[in-house]
Amino acid sequence: MSTATTSPSVIAPPTVRRTQLLIDGQWCDSTSGKTFATYHPATEEKIADVALANADDVDRAVKAARRAFESGDWPAMDARDRGRLLNRLADLIEENADELAALETLDNGKPIRDARAADIPLVIDCLRYYAGWADKITGETIPIRGDYFCYSRREPLGVCGQIIPWNFPALMVAWKWGPALAAGCTIVMKPAEQTPLSCLRLAELATEAGFPPGVINIVPGFGETGAAIVRHPDVDKIAFTGSTETAQRIMSDAAQTLKRLTFELGGKSPNIIFGDSDLDAAIEGAEFGLFFNQGQCCCAGSRVFVEQSVHEEFIERVVARAQERRLGNPFDENTTQGPQIDIDQFRKIMHYIDRGKHSKATCVTGGEREGTQGFYVQPTIFDNVTDDMDIATDEIFGPVMSVLPFRDIDEVIERSNKTYYGLAAAVWTKDVAKAHRIANSVKAGTVWINCYDVFDAAAPFGGFKMSGIGRELGGAALANYTEHKTVTMNLNS
Ligand code: ADP
Repeated sequence: MSTATTSPSVIAPPTVRRTQLLIDGQWCDSTSGKTFATYHPATEEKIADVALANADDVDRAVKAARRAFESGDWPAMDARDRGRLLNRLADLIEENADELAALETLDNGKPIRDARAADIPLVIDCLRYYAGWADKITGETIPIRGDYFCYSRREPLGVCGQIIPWNFPALMVAWKWGPALAAGCTIVMKPAEQTPLSCLRLAELATEAGFPPGVINIVPGFGETGAAIVRHPDVDKIAFTGSTETAQRIMSDAAQTLKRLTFELGGKSPNIIFGDSDLDAAIEGAEFGLFFNQGQCCCAGSRVFVEQSVHEEFIERVVARAQERRLGNPFDENTTQGPQIDIDQFRKIMHYIDRGKHSKATCVTGGEREGTQGFYVQPTIFDNVTDDMDIATDEIFGPVMSVLPFRDIDEVIERSNKTYYGLAAAVWTKDVAKAHRIANSVKAGTVWINCYDVFDAAAPFGGFKMSGIGRELGGAALANYTEHKTVTMNLNS
């Protein structure tokens, strides 16, 4: 593996501009003066020290967000002008797209080609999409009995705590800010401790775009900082993306103040390949659906169900593809797989690989660390996995594919649903009826037919069962950031 910086295909790392908290439009240190380090996962070297927000800082941020919500320029602003600000932010991101992509690669370790082709364009698209919604969030007139005029208003929910993970740091910012700002809410956001940098830079661009002070506040830190947001009595809502275990903790912490909650959590998504599929496309979809982003996707197609008739051919060809993946310096434009995010995730993945090796499944490729520097894991595939094995039930969040052979459609429907998760699923077949039977029967928030990981700002995304509560993206996400108010007027008064 080469991390040489002399090759013409290697991009220079960006300059880190912002490492402080953003509260009420001011960049500031934390009250404790404490900081924490963020590291480049490919070299394990420190990038920067970032201000560590504690409960006092969270309180300052919430007060600023409350002030900005109740008075001043933000609540006075016409809805259409909120949309203009979102569009202006999207323009600034577009102008700084290369820098933001490089920042994402630096902090997260994802290949620069992915950050450029996927993360940053999706951020821009998401903000533009919600810019269009700002002046289209309408209520209804309601025909009630009697001589009354009844209508509903959809008002912004208030101060929103937003807690995000490290796998798509900038994109998670956009998914959270877009609907919240379109609706007229204010924000206290905590980026993940592993990847605070792109969020801070986006907040700087939001300030430049003209969002009033206090509308967007950023408080970097660990779980304790997140918990301080969740417990704060003046936060109206928590939007959280992360692990199911943390969501359970948040739910119990939020019970005291009965906050509105939306969760986008883990998964163990089935990717179902029938013998009558376009096998070239299905194999490509299986590889991409699992190995994209180093397997660090909540919707990763980590249970690949393959019909017996094509099982042998599938294994041979998917292994060949996995072995063609180019692990290396994520700043190299030719790299297709970067390191895992940190030592904890690396160890967790290696633990599951070890469990797989000690089971009756067969490790047909990979199964080892790659190199000695950075948290690289070889693309790994286990064949003949059965439903009860850890590698078939638990979310691994790494480049580990489990292949489960099956015989017929009834069997695969039942086995696909044998999980507490329900985030996504995919089916590969040329038989339209079969495809729709799967789409109707699989308990998952998203079903892809003859494709995988097709995301669009307009298409709602979220989980059944323990994969989440509520939906992100699309018009559906606006429900997370608005309260309905019913107004009834006596027409004879
Ligand atoms: P992962 O294990 O993938 O890092 P987590 O669910 O632990 O996922 O983290 C997702 C986000 O939740 C991060 O920003 C993290 O700091 C935050 N977090 C962790 N624990 C808590 C908690 N108890 N309350 C609120 N936020 C938390």
